[in-house]
Amino acid sequence: MKLTVVGFWGGFPQANGASSGYLLQDNGFSLLIDCGSAVLSKVQQYVHVMDLDAVILSHYHHDHIADIGPLQYARMIHTMLGKKQKELPIYGHMADQENFERLTRLPYTKGYAYNPEESLKLGPFTISFLKTKHPVVCYAMRITNGEKTICYTADSSFLPEFIDFAKDSDLLICECNLYSGQNGENAGHMTCDEAGFIAKEARVKKLLLTHLPHFGEHQELVEKAQAIYDGPVELAKEGWTF
Ligand SMILES: [Zn+2]
Ligand SMILES: [Zn+2]
Repeated sequence: MKLTVVGFWGGFPQANGASSGYLLQDNGFSLLIDCGSAVLSKVQQYVHVMDLDAVILSHYHHDHIADIGPLQYARMIHTMLGKKQKELPIYGHMADQENFERLTRLPYTKGYAYNPEESLKLGPFTISFLKTKHPVVCYAMRITNGEKTICYTADSSFLPEFIDFAKDSDLLICECNLYSGQNGENAGHMTCDEAGFIAKEARVKKLLLTHLPHFGEHQELVEKAQAIYDGPVELAKEGWTF
């Protein structure tokens, strides 16, 4: 199982960057997790847009879904140009009907609702969900192929439930939109200390800090998380792979 960071910025992408997007591949199956601003441009460095097998969305904030429309156009245009049409399933939650309906643009893409109470099988992956603490309904994902397990917090302020949810995972992709001493309670985001605390308590094998802020020195996020969690901590970077 191979994970590639397509984009990692919180809110909006900096020049030539992209906001949230992660490509997870195994056994010839390509799953795109979140599809933020500029993710469509960046993801084509790793996979042809017609070779994506599924997309799954944590929530409907712009920095996680901005490129769904262009992705639908890309599938349409490649189909018109003679690429074999294959309907792309886009999984999202149903708590926001209006945004959910936008996932369907037949015959190119079709929205499927995931039931967060149940695990979802997508190709080689089994995905389970945890509702996060965020201004809109959002789900964290725990994804396994039976050998390796990746946990993605999506957007959230600190939740003690993350510790069980991320337990013993090989990689924790933790949002880290804030620095030590800030309070993410209202914004629905976490600090580097909270990321480090979850990684430590859940005994994950590796921590990747993502959904990075547009201020401060990112290296400081790593240092503070490392002061709490003694495993490897890395900053999300475009093209970073696991
Ligand atoms: Zn976000
Ligand atoms: Zn959000």
